[in-house]
Amino acid sequence: MTAHDDHDHHDQHASGELGEMELRVRALQSVLTEKGYIDPLALDVLIDTYQTRVGPRNGARVVARAWVDPGFRDWLRQDATAAIASLGYAGRQSEHMVAVENTATHHNLVVCTLCSCYPWAVLGLPPTWYKSAPYRARAVRDPHGVLRDFGVTLSDSTDVRVWDSTAELRYLVIPRRPEGTEGWSEERLASLVTRDSMIGTGLAKSPQDTQ
Ligand code: FE
Repeated sequence: MTAHDDHDHHDQHASGELGEMELRVRALQSVLTEKGYIDPLALDVLIDTYQTRVGPRNGARVVARAWVDPGFRDWLRQDATAAIASLGYAGRQSEHMVAVENTATHHNLVVCTLCSCYPWAVLGLPPTWYKSAPYRARAVRDPHGVLRDFGVTLSDSTDVRVWDSTAELRYLVIPRRPEGTEGWSEERLASLVTRDSMIGTGLAKSPQDTQ
């Protein structure tokens, strides 16, 4: 499986040329605009919101706060929706959040087996692979195998719990805090929290990864 190699910059070609997908999107947008179905300005606001203001940086700040503040962590585990909203992250697709915490013995993995339910307010738009049929099917059947495909090797004794997102419930994985980060600021810690680590298909980066 290579679907997770999909990077966020797929539509930015070094040469400045437009990729095929971008051309198709532009063509579609032109037609819809001409026919009066969409207002391009409103579309820009929406895209900007989900690309820059709502995204995995929000979730990373939630995780970093949980790492440094045990009171916040407890709140997050008991009422994730409220704890997350207290940091200013709320909205569509994140009305009912549940935070699940990785430990030395338990790893959490999030999938939506039915479609692509995803916590937009804290993670932004879902990656392409999250919506793919192979991920959705295998995450449940063979979670250890899926994790290996993502480069995550857990000991055989680690119990992987798979959480099935629904329209009602969205999950946020709290990855384990990496070793060697004692005394780090929240902001610095947040830089270690990847999108995938909050879905469970990755781990938080270690301090060495950032050098
Ligand atoms: Fe879904």
